[in-house]
Amino acid sequence: MSQSRRPLIAGNWKMNGLSDDGLSLADGVASKLKSESSPAFDLLVCPPFTIISKIGDCLDGSGVSLGGQDCHPAESGAHTGDVSAAMLADLGCSFVIVGHSERRADHGEPDSLINAKAQAAHNAGLIAIICIGETEAERDAGKTLDVVKSQLTGSVPSGATAANTVIAYEPVWAIGTGRTPSTDDVQEVHASIRSELAQLMGAGEADLCRLLYGGSVKPENASALMALADVDGGLIGGASLKAEDFWAIAQSCP
Ligand code: PEP
Repeated sequence: MSQSRRPLIAGNWKMNGLSDDGLSLADGVASKLKSESSPAFDLLVCPPFTIISKIGDCLDGSGVSLGGQDCHPAESGAHTGDVSAAMLADLGCSFVIVGHSERRADHGEPDSLINAKAQAAHNAGLIAIICIGETEAERDAGKTLDVVKSQLTGSVPSGATAANTVIAYEPVWAIGTGRTPSTDDVQEVHASIRSELAQLMGAGEADLCRLLYGGSVKPENASALMALADVDGGLIGGASLKAEDFWAIAQSCP
């Protein structure tokens, strides 16, 4: 982690939480942050769309940021059931996750669509968290760096900067499985992402851009992951559903 990049700990609640659960979780996270006089990290929660508004009210003034889990590439129009980036911004979101591997798999989202979603996020004034990561078969075949490079090139829109874009490296095989790559492997991929980003947004921006690691981060392994030179925080799934665990991960940032 570099001094010039402030760590971001982002919770992806996925399709979990009705109003009461979400509010008690958000309240727990906000109370933890309130107890810290000068946190060395930024905190973000991305609740399901249905409760974003209520969670936003609960987090108002807490310092915890709010994000969506996906957005449509269009500004508005005939897209039944979809949500635009501007709608998320209207609810008080400042971030949106795009290209999560569960959306790539469940909805067949290609890099070109993720690129358009990230562009829509930027147009609406949101920070896009662009997710990339290899499958287990790709890792076993020694293709990790090629896959990640290709996803990055395809998914990062022109105009991306360190201020409007965060990259989350999430090996698909590590999500929700309790397995993680070795810290050497994580650092190798993150260094390669940063070097590829230098081609896409310029070396200065790439140096400032936050790169999150995601995939089975928990309090027990967070310190080792967050200490890596090119890891600037985490995208946390399961462990973000318990305020205590989410907070312990945040506190492990150096
Ligand atoms: C995720 O889905 O973004 C994720 C990292 O999940 P988990 O932490 O549960 O592996």
